[in-house]
Amino acid sequence: MTGGKSCGACKVIGALVALGAINWGLYGVFNVDLVATVLGEMTTASRVVYGLIGVAGLMKVLWLFGCCPCQKGSCEPKK
Ligand SMILES: [Zn+2]
Repeated sequence: MTGGKSCGACKVIGALVALGAINWGLYGVFNVDLVATVLGEMTTASRVVYGLIGVAGLMKVLWLFGCCPCQKGSCEPKK
């Protein structure tokens, strides 16, 4: 994560991607699915969270090639 100020979208997406990464880490090492533990296995709520994490990850990937508007000036697109 780069320093400087980031917009709400960046923060929400960052938090969701972090949550997804931690969840997968726990699942891989301890066989504990945090989202399923808290929200239930494949309930509507947990599906929504999984979906949001997926969308957030996709946004992160897109932002590797272009920058979020809030990062204008401080973030150079990778070539
Ligand atoms: Zn942003």
